[in-house]
Amino acid sequence: MKDDGIMAQQEGGSIRGVGVSPGICCGRAVVLTDVPSDPSFGSDTPAAEPVILVGSDFSGEEVLSMDLESVCGFISAAGGLTASGGIVAKGAGIPGVMACPFGDRIRTGDDLILDGTTGEVFMHPSPDVVAQCNERTLQYQAAQEEMRVHRHLPAETKDGWKVEVLAAVDLADAVPGAIVAGAGGIGLFRSEFYYLTGDGAPSEEFLFSIYQHVVSSIAPLPVTIRTLDLSGTTQIHGLERERDPNPALGLKGIRFSLAHPELFRTQLRALYRASAFGQVRILLPMVSSADELQSAKSILAGVRDELTREGVRIGDGVKVGLVLEVPAAVLAASHLASEVDFFSISSNDLIQYGLALDRVNGTVAGGYDPLDPGILKMIQLVVQAGHGAGIEVDLCGEMAGNPASVPLLLGMGLDSLSMSPMDISGVKKMVRESTLDQCAALAELL
Ligand code: PEP
Ligand code: MG
Repeated sequence: MKDDGIMAQQEGGSIRGVGVSPGICCGRAVVLTDVPSDPSFGSDTPAAEPVILVGSDFSGEEVLSMDLESVCGFISAAGGLTASGGIVAKGAGIPGVMACPFGDRIRTGDDLILDGTTGEVFMHPSPDVVAQCNERTLQYQAAQEEMRVHRHLPAETKDGWKVEVLAAVDLADAVPGAIVAGAGGIGLFRSEFYYLTGDGAPSEEFLFSIYQHVVSSIAPLPVTIRTLDLSGTTQIHGLERERDPNPALGLKGIRFSLAHPELFRTQLRALYRASAFGQVRILLPMVSSADELQSAKSILAGVRDELTREGVRIGDGVKVGLVLEVPAAVLAASHLASEVDFFSISSNDLIQYGLALDRVNGTVAGGYDPLDPGILKMIQLVVQAGHGAGIEVDLCGEMAGNPASVPLLLGMGLDSLSMSPMDISGVKKMVRESTLDQCAALAELL
């Protein structure tokens, strides 16, 4: 049955938001007023029963800190396709809908079905709706199964053009799953989570053990580890800071690391030490100017020298890359390219800053458009600048995992795409069904 049939039968019984993590699930609502420490969480619901968490907002850090054992889905009023909570839930395989205007229509204990692909939420679904959702689940599973055959095949177009398809992960434990999903390496390891557990900033030894584990478990494939990219609202225990009035534009990414050089040096020491166990690429987030890059690089050089003086083994080919996500850095890309070994375009933030669309504001979530001509122009500019300087250009963020973006990205000449492991087979399928000629012709139109 078609979607509109469902809507007609359940008039008033469904709400539409933005599907951010695919899959369908049914469970009982637990409405959180204060994520993640709401005392009501779990208290009204037998532990064995699957729970759909409902809240105003879920940040990635909050989702990572939750015990997700009984959670089968989540719904939030805030956010959208690139909000960090959705990205983390997708990494964990939990269906989710964000930017969902549920108001006071959902209460703890309500029976819900959510479709994380279409963004629909059904409240107290009738037997008919349950049957239709079961049918959708079977279709979704069949489509997933069909795509799985592509996961270990090369990402190569029909006319022989290869692109690297890599995974973006948040946790060391996610690395084996990424390899099973067909990743040719880790193109983005977000390092934030390990700063949020424990009583304070993590020690060098702790970080080293995590990085060494990640690097060794993926070797000889490369891993790109992004240095701390905390959002402006996140607190590290013991290092409480004032909430940024506008977190997206505040002390975020490299700015935070430069403001806390001891923390940065600790992370870099752990990274350089782990580089002896495989191929490490260090990625610097949210750099907006050549000055910031120089400051970061001089700290990197200092840490390297210090470790060398101490006789610590460092891997031979550690590469240092730059995240391109701030429009000013995009425009300066040809100058910045000679200073680093690779570029990584972070499409989620590039779109946030390029289209002036807050990633966590559900009311503007509908404006997300990775194929906006201005965004595509910026990507093209970075690729040309990077290739002009002889360095590789990667693209990560939700756009990388969307098969609809793939022909243009291939046509623009991206060297690699880094995505949620869940998206790998669909992207490989699209690459394998394309020809570079067609893709290049599309990119010519820009
Ligand atoms: C991005 O901005 O595209 C990205 C991959 O990083 P994050 O989602 O962690 O901001
Ligand atoms: Mg980002």
